[in-house]
Amino acid sequence: MCRRRGDRWRRANTAFHVALARASGNDRLAKLVEVTLEELNRVLYLPTLLNVRVRTEASVPEHERIIAALRARDVHAAELAAAAHIAPNRQFVIDALISSPRLRSLNLIVS
Ligand SMILES: [Zn+2]
Repeated sequence: MCRRRGDRWRRANTAFHVALARASGNDRLAKLVEVTLEELNRVLYLPTLLNVRVRTEASVPEHERIIAALRARDVHAAELAAAAHIAPNRQFVIDALISSPRLRSLNLIVS
């Protein structure tokens, strides 16, 4: 994934999650999501640093399942879809940190 495409993906992903939080009607939650994504930027977007398109591209249908569940007002399905979106991303980050010498050399400390 080229850097420009990765940047577009990061912006789109952040916009999606902030919009989702904003749709809850809780502005404080939306701000918290936005700030958290900004603060965790380096860790949450390891797939783009590693040029791994599989994980980033998988996010699209995962986001679509979350939206579909919300449109259907199916809370349980939305919860399951959100969990199904979070779990592989979390595992990807863990696996990437463990296996990549390049990433081990990066300063991932958020200050
Ligand atoms: Zn997402």
